[in-house]
Amino acid sequence: MEDLFANRKDIKSFTLPQLKEEMGLLGEKTFRAVQLYEWMHRKLAAGYEEMTNIPRKLADRCREQYEYTTLRLLQVQESRLDGTRKYLFELPDGNTVESVWMRYKHGNSVCISSQVGCRMGCRFCASTLDGLERNLLPSEMLEQIYAITRHTAERVSNVVVMGTGEPLDNFDHLIQFITLLSDENGLHISQRNITVSTCGIVPRMRQLADRHLQITLALSLHAATDEKRRELMPIANRYSVDELMEVCAYYFEQTGRRITFEYSLVKGVNDSDDDAMQLIRLIRGLNCHVNLIPVNPIKEREYVQSERRAVEAFQNKLEQGGVNATVRREMGRDIDGACGQLRRRHLKQQDPGREDCQVDA
Ligand code: SAH
Repeated sequence: MEDLFANRKDIKSFTLPQLKEEMGLLGEKTFRAVQLYEWMHRKLAAGYEEMTNIPRKLADRCREQYEYTTLRLLQVQESRLDGTRKYLFELPDGNTVESVWMRYKHGNSVCISSQVGCRMGCRFCASTLDGLERNLLPSEMLEQIYAITRHTAERVSNVVVMGTGEPLDNFDHLIQFITLLSDENGLHISQRNITVSTCGIVPRMRQLADRHLQITLALSLHAATDEKRRELMPIANRYSVDELMEVCAYYFEQTGRRITFEYSLVKGVNDSDDDAMQLIRLIRGLNCHVNLIPVNPIKEREYVQSERRAVEAFQNKLEQGGVNATVRREMGRDIDGACGQLRRRHLKQQDPGREDCQVDA
């Protein structure tokens, strides 16, 4: 585990078996691990003071031995259009991350960040403009969901790892996070209700497939040809569309889970009839679903959202070509909707002279 806290271990990032082992090392009975775990991951305790059945002496020892990761709520924005809430949190080291809470008919969904910043450099994305600061710990990913659950007092039923960061660039912590989140002794969110979105790091996608999890994998495709994809995403210089298709087929083979392709529509760049035809030819044979996202313009780039008619035409074309496609409902348009915008505004306010950094593969 990444050693963010120097010599201190992070108690909320342990699985139950790991915590039992830790308690063993402290000379404690294993049922104490069960109690602590329940307080942290089921009752979502904000600190040891809430843990009424944990002896003071043990709580003090834990405080000494471990970091107890919590996030400080800095800001909440609520959309007047659809009730979507955007949260800005401060991490223990002073960095900030943002998360989004959305209410759908089928339950509440939270979109979390997996890194502070990102080094993937996608041209249309605000999260990557300042580069990567660091990976998030499993506890810091969990705590985004826990803090929001405490704040809303409502259960979260779906989690999407689609906020700031490239989750597969933080692979081990991501897997530990999924294990903890879906654990029956914790929030017990079904893996089928967890989606991980990647820009397409092929070897890591293969590694993920080999874990045989039941999560949904979403691939940010955004273009059907290498040439076009390279214009939008530097990662496309490393892995070709053919390699991506191969690993998607492998993912389905290994897990039985249908792949989701994300396709952000940019006016005049990837939204023509020809683009739709190329996409159909590429993915027709795969067990998949396409999620069309009208690009959310960021002020640092020129990209313009496709017109509504173009979005509908693109979707119809895909459907006629036998490819399942839905248009993602835009939520929270009035509240810094696109990934990374709220955090960026916060950073700029603190340091108005801040320079943007360019990332190239
Ligand atoms: N790094 C991961 C997950 C975070 S981004 C990935 O690339 O998938 C989540 C999704 O939002 C990705 O599909 C990404 O390409 C898309 N995205 C980022 N900025 C966007 C914007 N301004 N408009 C529309 N989609 C955007």
